[in-house]
Amino acid sequence: PPVPDAEALQHEDVAALLPRPSAESDKYRRGVVGVVAGSARYPGAAVLAVAGALRGGAGAVRYVGPAADTVIARFPETLVHSGPPAKAGRVQAWVVGPGLGDGAAARHSLEDVLRSDVPVLVDADGLRLLPPGDLRKREAPTVLTPHAGEAAALLGVSREEVESGRLAAVRELAGRYGATVLLKGSTTLVAGEGGPVRVNPTGTGWLATAGSGDVLSGLTGSLLAAGLGALDAASVGGYLHGLAARRAAGPHGAPIAAYDVATALAEAWRDVL
Ligand code: AMP
Ligand code: MG
Repeated sequence: PPVPDAEALQHEDVAALLPRPSAESDKYRRGVVGVVAGSARYPGAAVLAVAGALRGGAGAVRYVGPAADTVIARFPETLVHSGPPAKAGRVQAWVVGPGLGDGAAARHSLEDVLRSDVPVLVDADGLRLLPPGDLRKREAPTVLTPHAGEAAALLGVSREEVESGRLAAVRELAGRYGATVLLKGSTTLVAGEGGPVRVNPTGTGWLATAGSGDVLSGLTGSLLAAGLGALDAASVGGYLHGLAARRAAGPHGAPIAAYDVATALAEAWRDVL
């Protein structure tokens, strides 16, 4: 039978994929997420990505970067490191990019993380620093989470071209980079190489607020660290993120801030089960 171009993500599929702790679980087996984010200019992006990772079910979150004091003041449960990511200790998945800036230190951190043998999610400034070419040489999957403007820059086309052909754009990015791509926007799309594009049904316009993408990065990193495959982690991450925003905005809709989305993730989780 012909493969459909796109398919809506189903509630039951998400429910079946949510990682649950077992009797044998400990914090390491539940997944340690490494977050490389934030800068002197944008320390808040680090806080939001860590919030998403903590509320996404990780057993532990390691933060690596210059915003360690800000992060630890907000989340004392975070493990912080100031050296290069490779020296931070074992993690099961990396999230790199939110608020990172584009200096030499940011570039080195990204390269360090991409050399690792665990899944890596690249977002925001990390996408601007991404070395050209194929990520298939990596031993583990890579997930890219651009919005339309970031996708346009990666493809070398205008933002309008991405917006008018989002399905083609997300497929093209996945093929070109050998990565799983989550294209953000009013309807979030997730593509691997081949197979139908997954369409997320849970989004809400209330998510169009600064920092909400950083929460999604941390959340999806948590799901990768828990052992979900790249396509499933990105799909489930987008699904829970939208549901959490709806929960935070309430039944009739009301303004929310990015941090509210992280706080509402437990409610979104309960809605799925
Ligand atoms: P970022 O641009 O990285 O801050 O991410 C913004 C987040 O908000 C992404 O998860 C988008 O999918 C979501 N978003 C932005 N605009 C809309 C919209 N109009 N409707 C639904 N979700 C949106
Ligand atoms: Mg963003």
